[in-house]
Amino acid sequence: MNQNQLVITSNPADRCNYNQRIKFIVLHYTVSDEKDSLRVLKQGDVSAHYLIPKEAKSNGTDLWQLVPIKYRAWHAGQSYWQTRNHLNDTSVGIEIINYGYGLKQASGKILWPYQVENNIKFFLIQEIKKDKSLYSLLIKKNLLSAFLEDVMRGLVPPRDDQIYKKYISEKIIKKYTNLTNSLREQHDPFLNIKINDLYELQQQGKLVWDDYTPHQRKVLGLLLKKLTKELEVKDKNGKVCEEILATDIVGHSDIAPDRKSDPGPRFPWKYLAEQGIGAWPNKQDVDIFLKELSKNKNINLIWLQDNLRLYGYNIQTTKILDTQSKDAIRAFQWHFEPDNASGIPSLKTIALLKALIKKYPPIGIQPQINTTTQLKNSINSGWKDLKNQLLILDKDLKATKKQIDLFF
Ligand SMILES: [Zn+2]
Repeated sequence: MNQNQLVITSNPADRCNYNQRIKFIVLHYTVSDEKDSLRVLKQGDVSAHYLIPKEAKSNGTDLWQLVPIKYRAWHAGQSYWQTRNHLNDTSVGIEIINYGYGLKQASGKILWPYQVENNIKFFLIQEIKKDKSLYSLLIKKNLLSAFLEDVMRGLVPPRDDQIYKKYISEKIIKKYTNLTNSLREQHDPFLNIKINDLYELQQQGKLVWDDYTPHQRKVLGLLLKKLTKELEVKDKNGKVCEEILATDIVGHSDIAPDRKSDPGPRFPWKYLAEQGIGAWPNKQDVDIFLKELSKNKNINLIWLQDNLRLYGYNIQTTKILDTQSKDAIRAFQWHFEPDNASGIPSLKTIALLKALIKKYPPIGIQPQINTTTQLKNSINSGWKDLKNQLLILDKDLKATKKQIDLFF
């Protein structure tokens, strides 16, 4: 060793006996406007690797990187895709500034959730101002935004925690949290909308989804291409041995279908697939399958449940159209059949999934075992595997013994 300097020489493995930690790319919308999205993602308890604004910034910025991809960002929450869960461990998270879904007002204008949040914040500040000593303390100690975050969303930026706790009593927090809740009851029409109400409201013409801008579509195309290239694992001869596959690029709703609606039905999956990014079925295959299916118009729910799981979704084969099935089907429809995201499977849903399975045959994931015959087969093949492994082990042992004999 040369003094205190380490001499590290690159000596790469002969084969790809290692792989990439990042397996998936997850797309999100922020629901909030740019200012709020940046504040939440930079100061709050959630984070993402990238954030894409609606338009390029005047200084030339197309998007921001908030967290380097070697670190784990907190964007996925409880999640599942292709037998893996806790996707924060294994994914890159991309947030896009998009207002989600808005409600049509009598005036014809659209009310977006971020506007409701801003209104509630405005009312709240008016109320806080009436309590002069509290207001001047919040301003003096620079705690107003932490306080608003706390009473509106139950989040306190951790860096402010100590100062915050020193000055703000539980009683005050409770008083203003209650006030926020009653303001929400009166002024927040989004409060009682459930994820499975969205399609119905959309059909009734009461709900609209925010569009992605041309800038965002362009940036997504370039960024996803750049990331998939960066995440390739190559052997020492430059041959790719692992890569992010088309079905590894997913929406938040795909990996958490019971609680998430982002990136929503307006996300440009088809546009991206036309540029070779992410999954999209061949139209010809869909048409052929649809024609076949139209003959007996029978929706085979067991096939659908089995194959949605095979494709990646967290769905069990229950043989009934239960909530977990509707959630996964709706997420699939948001992704591939955006005009029909009802959670009720159509013949087209089946045809789309058949075409996707044909184009991207799932590897290594076995369908859930349903029947005793299947179970028997599985046990038999398990025994066979074990027997083969034992034979190999025995052979290895014999070889080792031979070597030892030779050595001594
Ligand atoms: Zn999300």
